[in-house]
Amino acid sequence: MLVAGKSDRVALRFGAESLTYGELASVAGPLAATLAGRTRVAVWATPSLRTCVAIVAALTAGVPVVPINPKAGSRELAHIIADSVPDLVLAAPDAELPPELDVLPRVPVELDTSGTPWQGEEPDPESPAFVIYTSGTTGPPKGVLLPRRAVTSNLDALAEIWDWTDVDVLVHALPLFHVHGLILGVVGPLRRGGSLHHLGRFSTEAAAKELAGAGTMLFGVPTMYHRLAADCEADAALAAGVGAARLLVSGSAALPATDHERITAATGQRVVERYGMTETLMNCGVRATGDRRPGAVGPPVPGVELRLVDDAGEPLSGESVGEIEVRGPNLFLGYLNRPDATEAAMRDGWFKTGDMAVRDPDGYVRIVGRRATDLIKSGGYKIGAGEIENALLEHPGVAEAAVTGEPDDDLGERIVAWIVPAGAEPTADELADHVSELLSPHKRPRVVRYLEALPRNEMGKVLKRALHD
Ligand code: ATP
Ligand code: MG
Repeated sequence: MLVAGKSDRVALRFGAESLTYGELASVAGPLAATLAGRTRVAVWATPSLRTCVAIVAALTAGVPVVPINPKAGSRELAHIIADSVPDLVLAAPDAELPPELDVLPRVPVELDTSGTPWQGEEPDPESPAFVIYTSGTTGPPKGVLLPRRAVTSNLDALAEIWDWTDVDVLVHALPLFHVHGLILGVVGPLRRGGSLHHLGRFSTEAAAKELAGAGTMLFGVPTMYHRLAADCEADAALAAGVGAARLLVSGSAALPATDHERITAATGQRVVERYGMTETLMNCGVRATGDRRPGAVGPPVPGVELRLVDDAGEPLSGESVGEIEVRGPNLFLGYLNRPDATEAAMRDGWFKTGDMAVRDPDGYVRIVGRRATDLIKSGGYKIGAGEIENALLEHPGVAEAAVTGEPDDDLGERIVAWIVPAGAEPTADELADHVSELLSPHKRPRVVRYLEALPRNEMGKVLKRALHD
């Protein structure tokens, strides 16, 4: 069962609106009956109670959900609709939908608690529960077909490593159209029988207030922890609120080691990092009882097998850099309409993540960066962008940093640092010397470019393609 809470326990809270598990079943039941037998339904995924109800109704009836980013641009919307061909779109009655969605019949999501809970059978575990589009960080978003089995097995693995139970209250401020906010953030608490409190928009004050009160866990992205670090340093009451959390979890992109340390110094809490992706859900995660090392995403979660391979696909042992491949019940069924891309992503049943990593002697995984954009081949060395980014962030004059490679006649590729200065601009020489001293001379940036802000998507991921362009 994907939704498994006691009838009078609060399941979902968005601001002043909330539903108990009993109410949720009554609200979602009639909608599930309307949807039963459809091929696929789109959900206009605003951060709201109605979005959760729509998703629960579709999951209950066994109809795959295509969550739609309400802020997506016209080209992306048109691509997703043409690619996934939903039968209809579920949205709040008063939601204003863009013209790209006008082609679809619209079914309003009401919050009427007088309905009858769904009595149908539990859908087949191998049937698709979601079609979720990837973030589009490295190319056009791909529709990922996720079976129920991947969702349930992965959520149960996370429950095991984080001691996640029905007493937990998840504090949530992420969008509901990627796996982080949707599967971990919404389906996660519902499967445990716990509660979800969504803040609407993230603010450090609101997060601290919730965690000081009923909230036990926070699922966030690194940009949120960056803001929490700064505000907790400045405000002891806010730091005490955040410090009251049972578990602070970060993912979707690398949490800079500096922010990890700053949060600990200000709140006494050490953030737990996890690593995952749309196609595989969560592959690695630091245990609640484990060592919380800055820059490490922990060992594979229970049930997931992980290996690092070299360029020829040969498994590596020891501490060398390799591409992460994973295998287990967490894997997707394939990309929608893209058998070519699905085939290219697999090797003998292993999924090629495209992420590069090293392993600590005890098996903790450290993500070095993406094969496509974060691995710089310079002067005969393979250099990971993440390590240099972390080193740059330790310089007091650097607020944000991203590192890329660009073609160089002499070196093959040269290291370029994109810097958002903190106050006075540090010189290129100063930054190059700083990196040389912390790491090694061949890792120093050859070019430094200054920006007012890094281009990021709604999850706070740096869009390196936009930097390259
Ligand atoms: P696309 O596949 O369309 O290019 P995307 O890979 O960003 O986009 P997602 O599936 O949302 O789309 O993101 C997964 C990626 O996010 C991972 O492959 C990895 O590169 C990155 N990631 C997730 N968690 C972490 C983490 N803890 N540390 C570093 N990187 C992470
Ligand atoms: Mg990807």
